[in-house]
Amino acid sequence: MTLSTRPRSASFVDALVDALGESRVVEDRAKIGRYLRDFSWYSPILESALADTTVTAVAKPDSLEALRETVAIAARNRVPLTMRGAGTGNYGQSLPLEDGLVVDVKGVAGVLDVSEGRIAVLPGTTLKAAEEAARQTGQELAVMPSTYRVATASGFICGGSGGIGASAHGDLWSGNVLAVELLTVTDAPEPVRLEGDQVNAVLHTYGTIGVITRVELRLVPRHEYTASFVTFGDFADACAFGWDLVDSAVHTRLASVQQAPIGGMFTPLAELVGDTGHVVLVWSDVEDDAALDELVARHRGTRASWPDGAPHITQFPYSHTILWSRRADPSSSWLQCEYAADDRGRFLDQVAALTERFPGVFLQHVEINKSRDGGVRCMGIPPLMGLPDHAGALDELIAFCTGIGVVVLNPHSYVVEEGGFVGDVAETLALKERCDPLGILNPGKLGASFFAARRSVSDAGDLDLRSPEQLDDPDGAGAQR
Ligand SMILES: Cc1cc2nc3c(=O)[nH]c(=O)nc-3n(C[C@H](O)[C@H](O)[C@H](O)COP(=O)(O)OP(=O)(O)OC[C@H]3O[C@@H](n4cnc5c(N)ncnc54)[C@H](O)[C@@H]3O)c2cc1C
Repeated sequence: MTLSTRPRSASFVDALVDALGESRVVEDRAKIGRYLRDFSWYSPILESALADTTVTAVAKPDSLEALRETVAIAARNRVPLTMRGAGTGNYGQSLPLEDGLVVDVKGVAGVLDVSEGRIAVLPGTTLKAAEEAARQTGQELAVMPSTYRVATASGFICGGSGGIGASAHGDLWSGNVLAVELLTVTDAPEPVRLEGDQVNAVLHTYGTIGVITRVELRLVPRHEYTASFVTFGDFADACAFGWDLVDSAVHTRLASVQQAPIGGMFTPLAELVGDTGHVVLVWSDVEDDAALDELVARHRGTRASWPDGAPHITQFPYSHTILWSRRADPSSSWLQCEYAADDRGRFLDQVAALTERFPGVFLQHVEINKSRDGGVRCMGIPPLMGLPDHAGALDELIAFCTGIGVVVLNPHSYVVEEGGFVGDVAETLALKERCDPLGILNPGKLGASFFAARRSVSDAGDLDLRSPEQLDDPDGAGAQR
């Protein structure tokens, strides 16, 4: 369905103001502008494609009832609506492709219940608040994004994939999301509850299925952690160490392998690492220190404690790495990929092949995690340096990766299927039919083709990057450029 064929009402903003109050409906163009940015500027392709994004209004409900009323008003007026948490997504998930309404859920926040192995929260609750509540009961989140200080629970399950904790417990699809409740986008929104495997139909589907009202996440016993960085002269040793660490009895919440010169781009660590050191960032249980030291020595590494005064270790891995590499070289780009799982030898061969073929260009950054069946799985988030013909080089890099069995998860598209995290979307599409029969929830992000429809490439331009530290601004203003 396209905008022009939909019957529209000019009065939906008036209805929203009546329902929510004037202070909870944003119409001011300058203020709306901050809701039309996220972290899709990592990709010069997406940055160009999403530059003309616009909406008529932003609604900021502050309760579940106000959220329900907002959804009903949008549905009755056939106005496209796009949900938004903290706006830290990397693929333009929360940026609307059609004019209409953005709904900011950060005001619908709060921890509802904590029990053994489970926490229930409202959609706009930050993962930090959830983690703090869990830790008070001797537990912790099984997995949370490295943006947990600002990212919301609903934004994480709809826009994220894994993160801190995945080295011990796997990603979103590893049974770490226990239940989800959502509202249908209909004239009279109805609640739907999904449990167990049913939740897979909404994971990483960019908020296209329904409006999430409750998220229940898996908790695991709390550990006390120590942060270290381990340097290696040889990248193969660093990769083998990362793999063996996650495969060992050392309880590890993070094992992030960074090929030189990425460590030198981490300004607070640069002097300690230099341009030639390969680094593994490790966040592991303090009780396992001796076993960690033994593993480090076996792989010819050198372990150092986290430097005093440096930002927290979680501000360097996952997509945080790309903030540092873009700051070091604003014309750089990035990719995401999946190396061979559960096959250490093949993984190391793939690492060697990429090092040999694209030295200094495809800088390997690998998050070593538990796979969904308890084995080892390696997710690559490489900075790409010095690509004058960005689109052409991407095609070549992707073709090479595919040729050696590295699966590319393309971060240069805002379409769910093209991102590659979600395999079979049949159940997702069926649930969408049921929950969004009007097709007005974040239209264009599911069942479409970005590459066929919108691909346009421009130079990354003169970037005015916010620092990773500013990402933790509670207003989510780190997304502003
Ligand atoms: C520096 C950096 C590091 C990152 N590290 C990680 C990481 O470690 N792991 C990871 O998985 N991701 C990571 N990300 C991506 C992102 O931060 C996370 O996925 C985060 O959890 C998104 O949460 P958010 O609140 O910002 O969601 P948003 O970006 O606001 O939204 C994400 C999606 O969720 C949808 N949505 C939000 N609320 C609702 C709702 N109530 N109902 C329906 N749909 C909804 C939106 O429409 C959108 O499609 C990183 C990004 C950056 C910039």
